Amino acid sequence: FLSVRALSKHYGPVTALDAVSLDVRQNSRTAIVGPSGSGKSTLLRIIAGFEPAASGTVQLNDEVLVDGPNAVPAHQRGIGIVSQDGALFPHLSIADNIAFGLHRRLPDRDKRVRDLMALIGLDHAMLDRRPHQLSGGQQQRVALARALARQPRLMLLDEPFSSLDTGLREQMRQAVTQILGTAGITSVLVTHDQAEALSFADQVALIRNGRLVQRGTPEEVYFRPADRQTALFLGEAV
Ligand code: ATP
Ligand code: MG
Repeated sequence: FLSVRALSKHYGPVTALDAVSLDVRQNSRTAIVGPSGSGKSTLLRIIAGFEPAASGTVQLNDEVLVDGPNAVPAHQRGIGIVSQDGALFPHLSIADNIAFGLHRRLPDRDKRVRDLMALIGLDHAMLDRRPHQLSGGQQQRVALARALARQPRLMLLDEPFSSLDTGLREQMRQAVTQILGTAGITSVLVTHDQAEALSFADQVALIRNGRLVQRGTPEEVYFRPADRQTALFLGEAV
């Protein structure tokens, strides 16, 4: 389904990604974990089309999205992304944020927005507010609804639950897992929460210093870590 091959990216002297390869099966859930600054967000941004790669390829089904510096524009990829900072449009209402990218004359546009609000557990009274009138966690949930609205083939989630408290986090993770499952949307989740990675994913990939260190089922990476550092890193989950 998604195939990433030897993807590299540099920022000046910094190598953010060093020949990363990753395969994601259709309808599966992949979690990417790794220390801060290891290249996780960079990888998602390149897959989404928000950033060019230096070299390597990204393919979705038979479509080549990235081939070195050549790239298909982000909006033509059918890929949804919820970035680390949420990044809602500050001047648009919550309703317009969610509906952004939906066709203006889509007959059930308003209903779709309301259904999505219910899905992420936000009150309809918030629809006319602006993003700054919502809490950080509420904004993250709106960002999620906005990404879901376009019914992407692939959903990239960059620590989408980071500003939620523990209870809500668990609740949202279950809701999102269910939504993605029902809609048949393949997903890749970046998280610094190892327990979250192990419970969410059927494939876990560990990145360190821009390199893919290990990938496997949660059981494999947990019980047979590639090296001592990985063991220590994932061991924090318990
Ligand atoms: P975190 O867990 O803290 O979000 P990350 O794994 O998502 O970290 P990235 O954001 O992908 O890490 O960054 C990888 C490396 O690339 C870091 O060294 C970072 O400083 C660098 N980097 C990322 N974006 C830029 C940029 N726009 N300009 C310069 N350097 C960048
Ligand atoms: Mg990041």
